[in-house]
Amino acid sequence: SIAVVDTAVRTTCPYCGVGCGVLASPDGAGGAGIAGDPEHPANRGRLCSKGSALGETVGLSTRLLAPMMRIDGALTRASWDAALGAIADAFRATVAAHGPDSVALYLSGQLLTEDYYAANKLAKGFLGTANVDTNSRLCMASSVAGHKRAFGSDTVPGVYADLDEADLVVLVGSNAAWCHPVLFRRLEAARARRGTKLVVIDPRRTATAEEAELFLPVAPGMDSVLFAGLLVHLAEADGLAPDYIRAHTSGFDAALAGARALAPDLATVALRTGVPAADIARFYALFAASERVVTCYSQGVNQSAQGTDKVGAIINCHLATGRIGRPGMGPFSLTGQPNAMGGREVGGLANQLAAHMGFSAAEVDRVRRFWGAPNMATREGLKAVDMMRAVAEGRIKALWVLGTNPAVSLPRADAVREALSRLDFLAISDNVRASDTLACRPHVLLPALAWGEKDGTVTNSERRISRQRAFLDPPGEAQPDWWAMAQVGRRLGYGAAFGWRSVAEVFREHAALSGFENEGSRDFDIGGLAGLDDDAFDVMTPQQWPVREPGEAGDKRFFAEGGFFTPDRRARFIVPAPPAPAARTDAAFPLRLNTGRIRDQWHTMTRTGLSPRLAGHLPAPFAEMHPADAQALGIASGDLVRLASSHGAVVLEARITDGQRRGEVFAPIHWSGANAAEARVNALVEGATDPFSGQPESKATPVRAERV
Ligand code: SF4
Repeated sequence: SIAVVDTAVRTTCPYCGVGCGVLASPDGAGGAGIAGDPEHPANRGRLCSKGSALGETVGLSTRLLAPMMRIDGALTRASWDAALGAIADAFRATVAAHGPDSVALYLSGQLLTEDYYAANKLAKGFLGTANVDTNSRLCMASSVAGHKRAFGSDTVPGVYADLDEADLVVLVGSNAAWCHPVLFRRLEAARARRGTKLVVIDPRRTATAEEAELFLPVAPGMDSVLFAGLLVHLAEADGLAPDYIRAHTSGFDAALAGARALAPDLATVALRTGVPAADIARFYALFAASERVVTCYSQGVNQSAQGTDKVGAIINCHLATGRIGRPGMGPFSLTGQPNAMGGREVGGLANQLAAHMGFSAAEVDRVRRFWGAPNMATREGLKAVDMMRAVAEGRIKALWVLGTNPAVSLPRADAVREALSRLDFLAISDNVRASDTLACRPHVLLPALAWGEKDGTVTNSERRISRQRAFLDPPGEAQPDWWAMAQVGRRLGYGAAFGWRSVAEVFREHAALSGFENEGSRDFDIGGLAGLDDDAFDVMTPQQWPVREPGEAGDKRFFAEGGFFTPDRRARFIVPAPPAPAARTDAAFPLRLNTGRIRDQWHTMTRTGLSPRLAGHLPAPFAEMHPADAQALGIASGDLVRLASSHGAVVLEARITDGQRRGEVFAPIHWSGANAAEARVNALVEGATDPFSGQPESKATPVRAERV
């Protein structure tokens, strides 16, 4: 069948947003052989180091395999019935006593779309709160907000094939060689074949930057000045597309005036970005001269208190040149997580409702009617950082965390850990039995199915929905997350709404909602998949949305001929605010901490940490420093360094490199209390948030460094 090749099961990698297809061959003893799926359009058989090592990570040694409840202060094995009943009772009682916004769910880009759908329906339709947010808030929320500001919808206009056909690819705040490796290999193949130029814009000289024709080591936070300067250059060099601007956009004159105020000339851009003027001029000339340009951006753009403005400044340049939605052209958000996109599609963020709808009265009413929901949330809920503040202040009293480790990954991680530990009621669904979050005195633990055991769909960065399929038996008493949430819904008295018997039923309902009263008025529409029966769902091949009618296929781009999702169907140019990192350095904290991923680890290492091969790349937590900073502080490579901010401290091994800008330090995010107690770098991060997206600034925290 399409789902099974010989004895291998077709599934999808659980790591980055490239969304590679995987062939998994179970060995009958709980393990599996892993190969790239040559038929999957995202990777055509390639896998990176993390994907190739998946077979080393499917063991049960760290797994949570049975429900647990806190009884007389101690976690005790419990039945599913008792654990689910405890969650339903706690949520019911908390809502009754303190109102619906006293409860919340905190989700993960690791969840499958069907899990996300169940969480959103439970909270926003039946508990009556939109306090449903996700670790995707740390990942690409600024892209979502940037898309909605410019396009009126959260639409990624292009497809991966654009990288094959571009003349110029600009990577902004993206270490794709390490963080989206298979996509980067695809770009390298295109460069070898057709000479595609590569410009990398990043404060660090990363492995990606090493491959570029032109590397612009931009000062933290100054990306929008660089792109404002580009807009000015395009206007002055006759590089605009006036017909496209006139026919399909609004606000160009104001945007150009704003860009001129931010970036009046090359000298100003050079001064503010710290990039040599000659290199900036080369970039601008390349962009102006290359018809086929793709600008990919990732966390260096998004994880900023002005991330949405940065996204807007990039999109402005593509709208102004009409380079959008045509082969080899467009702004392209690279999502970090395997299912950040799927979460967005079902409303997995507190400021979305479902199926890319928001909280207008008409949309609330539409979803209410579709769900038959008695308690619809009518306004946005709390985004991740605000949600944890509400937990700390006692406004949120009952929280259910699914598939994520916020005590490591959220800014001010120490404060988050403390706040979680004081909750009146904390339930956690996870597939590991130990993590910093699991140490926060939860009242109920639910064992979730892991990759290889669970079944459903994920959506990658190019809007392609792929199946994750089970190829291992469910271990112990583990269950799917959608099932656990449906069970709680039933225990709250909503049996009809949560009567799903299979993941295919959840998918069909999600697909039907996306097409409900959607005559082309919303971008996200997979109504054409709502009629898949169980067998068809089982063998579903990767599908790029929209799928408005059954059988639609092919690469699908948006906006080449306009057709935006604003009320007047025109795109909006954005005037970025003057940029500045939210927190200033001073004598006490004179350096800036930039955080990010390394090539062979994923998030808080609960899976990749199980692979000895992956640990061999960079085995210990470290901090990269510029040689001049290190010398001034008397620090040599290999020394232990204490980094401190006003929120916490970590101890890391110093690595001295001139790939680092002077005055800046880089540290990876992966280590935690579970494996390196003093290396939780998010304990340092300030967490000032973007006003549009709520995404925290994770790459510009003032710190000081000293040799231990
Ligand atoms: Fe998995 Fe991403 Fe590597 Fe592909 S590129 S194998 S999706 S981690």
